[in-house]
Amino acid sequence: MNLLDLAPDAVEATLAEVVSPAFRARQIEEWVQLRGVDSFDAMTNIPKETRAALAERFTLAQPEVLSRTEPAPDGSQKYLFKLADGNRIESVYMPMGDRTSICLSSQAGCAVGCTFCVTGFFGAGRNLTPAEILGQFFVIQREKQIPSEQMNVVFMGMGEPLLNYENLVTTLEVLYRQMAPRRITVSTSGIIPGIEELAKLERRPNLAISINAPDRKRREEIMPITAKYPLDELMAALRRFPLEKGRDITVEYVLLAGYNDSTQDAVALAKLIRGIHAKVNAIPFNEDANLPKWMKRPTDREIDRFVDTLVKNRVRVTVRRSKGRDIAAACGQLRGKEIAKSRATGGREMKSEG
Ligand code: SF4
Repeated sequence: MNLLDLAPDAVEATLAEVVSPAFRARQIEEWVQLRGVDSFDAMTNIPKETRAALAERFTLAQPEVLSRTEPAPDGSQKYLFKLADGNRIESVYMPMGDRTSICLSSQAGCAVGCTFCVTGFFGAGRNLTPAEILGQFFVIQREKQIPSEQMNVVFMGMGEPLLNYENLVTTLEVLYRQMAPRRITVSTSGIIPGIEELAKLERRPNLAISINAPDRKRREEIMPITAKYPLDELMAALRRFPLEKGRDITVEYVLLAGYNDSTQDAVALAKLIRGIHAKVNAIPFNEDANLPKWMKRPTDREIDRFVDTLVKNRVRVTVRRSKGRDIAAACGQLRGKEIAKSRATGGREMKSEG
């Protein structure tokens, strides 16, 4: 059993079989869940025999770093991890002044199939365990030596976090040990039952919702999940989502040239989100060889026109202009390159790293 898979309130009972007195269990819990160590030997205040007994029964395994991209001009860097079963996942490190965000994957693929997304292009993958999700976080935090008070976490990597709900909630509980819920954002394609479950939590992360089109027809074209969870029902679920003072729902909108980036689209988007405490994050599309050729990034002028129209319609908006663009930060692109390379070489590339 991996101790990083446990919710904080389950650690003490699980360790009771191996360690006593109870304060030892709490010390171990701190090493695992607060400091994220990946070896029992690192637990310097725990007796050697206890560490050996723990190592016999439990693991602290975290994903292995396969590669890192060169840092982009804005400092962001993408990590490609290998899991114990050979699956590959991605995470992104994004420094932003005195804050740092880490973008985590929640699944080793994605069944949702958004047509603008490389992870969706390569199809479904299994749910990640809490240890595999938290492992991405701890590996990067350790490597970059980021103090926890500077950290933000976003679930915007590979996968749909609300389709891995139980493991997501365990992960959140562990992360809350070192950061407030408002510093964590869960981004969803619009899984309404998952949004409703999140709404019931006592401590809720921020919610980001990937909208990408102002009407049902176009949203269904690029996000087939809309057929299952219609746009009007999704907007109603967002209106019901409880927000503490000062918090917003982030509306993500991937801008595709000539498709959803016109002035009329901006006006329609402003109308769609009226009444929701929301801010829009406009994300110019990241072109990729695996995605439909007609999907293009709008020019800076077109992006500005879209954004200005939103602002005129009293919508708060930010643009993710370059963060990670240089390192193929859109989810799944790095893994997609590796899969494509592997297919071209009959699988030898992937195996040679294993
Ligand atoms: S954008 Fe997110 S939900 Fe859609 S296919 Fe990609 S990983 Fe899945």
